[in-house]
Amino acid sequence: MADIIQLLPDSVANQIAAGEVIQRPASVVKELVENAIDAGATQIKVNIKDAGRTLIQIIDNGCGMSDTDARMAFERHATSKIRSANDIFAIRTMGFRGEALASIAAIAEVELRTKEHDQDLGTFIHISGSSIITQEPIRCDNGTNFQIKNLFFNVPARRKFLKSNPAELKHIINEIQRIALANPEISISLHHNGSAIHELSGSNKRVRIVSLFGKNINQNLIPIDTETSLVKLTGFIGQPKHARKTFGEQFLFVNKRFMKHPFFHKAIVQAYEKILPPDAIPSYFIYFDLNPADIDVNIHPTKTEIKFENESAIWQILQASVREALGKFNIVPSIDFDQAGSVDIPMPLHHFDEVSMPEIKINPNYNPFDSPNPTKSYSGSGNSFSPRPATERPNTSNWQSLYKGLEPDLSSQAEQPADEPVQFRIEEQQTVKSSVQFKNKYILTPVKSGLMVIDQKRAHERILYERLIQVLENHEVASQQQLFPETFELNASDATLLTSILPDLRTLGFDIRDFGKNSFIINGTPGVLNTSSPIEIIESLLEEYKNSPGNLQEKARETVAISLAQASAIPYGHTLKPGEINELIDNLFACQTPNFSPKGKKILSIMPLEDFEKLLK
Ligand code: ADP
Ligand code: MG
Repeated sequence: MADIIQLLPDSVANQIAAGEVIQRPASVVKELVENAIDAGATQIKVNIKDAGRTLIQIIDNGCGMSDTDARMAFERHATSKIRSANDIFAIRTMGFRGEALASIAAIAEVELRTKEHDQDLGTFIHISGSSIITQEPIRCDNGTNFQIKNLFFNVPARRKFLKSNPAELKHIINEIQRIALANPEISISLHHNGSAIHELSGSNKRVRIVSLFGKNINQNLIPIDTETSLVKLTGFIGQPKHARKTFGEQFLFVNKRFMKHPFFHKAIVQAYEKILPPDAIPSYFIYFDLNPADIDVNIHPTKTEIKFENESAIWQILQASVREALGKFNIVPSIDFDQAGSVDIPMPLHHFDEVSMPEIKINPNYNPFDSPNPTKSYSGSGNSFSPRPATERPNTSNWQSLYKGLEPDLSSQAEQPADEPVQFRIEEQQTVKSSVQFKNKYILTPVKSGLMVIDQKRAHERILYERLIQVLENHEVASQQQLFPETFELNASDATLLTSILPDLRTLGFDIRDFGKNSFIINGTPGVLNTSSPIEIIESLLEEYKNSPGNLQEKARETVAISLAQASAIPYGHTLKPGEINELIDNLFACQTPNFSPKGKKILSIMPLEDFEKLLK
């Protein structure tokens, strides 16, 4: 049989390698901007068209390349940054794999203009799909000017997997944000389709943070400054009151490189323990400086995951510095384990020994045959809780049968001893109404076969979600105008995200206008929601939305509805009035799918009567 093994042609090998390094337009931006920084640039301009699909241009005033280097730069494993394997351990530059340019040239059209400062003429190179089309001397500015056109023109599969323009642009903005924070002394601008997103002049860390995240953040920055033999930590953490429900202001850098490090994230969050509201995430911008030999940046092709030699020691140092910084600013954690309204960790259902007998308030005027007229809202505003009109309700007989047998049995009551507490009897009579809230998180309600436990937040999510879907399906937008329209500012990537879902939010009843410069004004909110703090809801909505899996383009409206329901549902820790509890149960069972939250989590479960009997054996 003839030999069948062949070496892949370089262009194919480069295309395969490109898949690892270049996943989307933002990867190109990252690689080229990092190269510019390695070339010593102090000014970098990034121009993007159509979220990078048609054009990515990076102009720098760095050292430039000679004509041979310019040609060599596109070869795989061509790098000026390491000479021997040992160099890898002392690497302080961003590059060194020598893969980026070869990869980009394999999957796009590249035009390069570059000139060294001491030369009169520069070099122009045009490459398309790894083949050189032109190389010639040219008059041009000092430094390097890359234009990447028609990204993935020869890899349709990749092109197909690109997300919408706003989503791809958001990735680009995020990359620029990280690089800009890591290198505050470098001037960086970002333009998209001709309009400026960022124009940042070289400065220090604080000014850079403020120019990226808005001036409000300034007074919320607490400096961090710790130097040990292992690591030097600088930068800022945010005041607890500045913590948001949304991710977006959490940045770690190591030797001027952005890194993701969930373990270190935990160290920081733990230092804030007990001084943050539940679910709030503190802001931080922390810069690690350490001997490059003590880290391994090579474990991931895009080099954002970094391995530390002395990880646990650094963990301790990091947490201590954050605690110290918080302490210096008199933000001393007040340790209070049983604050009213605090969120409890859910207990396993079988530990019922802690449950105290619910306190039942007796309403002397109560008449079980009156039609219910429950309290209408959780915070006094809006009609968030009014049940759907009876005509629209699905048949509720199924769930009501859960309660059968719980109606007051007068004959057995008659047999009760005379000294039985009155309160107990009244409770029995109101069985169906006698649901109670437990740990401000669950609703316990007796049913025929045992005790039903309902997760209050998930239940409310389900109710709101079905209403929102109804609004969408019936085009019955009802917007509740704000008395005082509120303005708010987002960071650039959240602003792009919000802009991209604005049309969907409008169909749901939000009246939000884009004010430019990443600020927005809320004039109205959906009538079906209880929105006393619309800005918070928008923030949580964005966070939920970012964390939603699935194809954002196809299911955008549904994802918005789910996220919105999650963001506006009554939170854990919220005390419900008895009327509200009943209303919640009532509305839950009027839903099409009362058992599962919009994200598929269990809303309720029944603990069978036998289990209680077993417990007390
Ligand atoms: P790496 O950055 O890992 O070395 P790249 O493929 O990104 O690999 O770049 C290859 C080489 O091209 C670099 O090592 C550098 O010498 C040169 N180069 C790339 N971009 C620039 C630039 N903007 N200015 C000067 N030289 C550059
Ligand atoms: Mg590089």
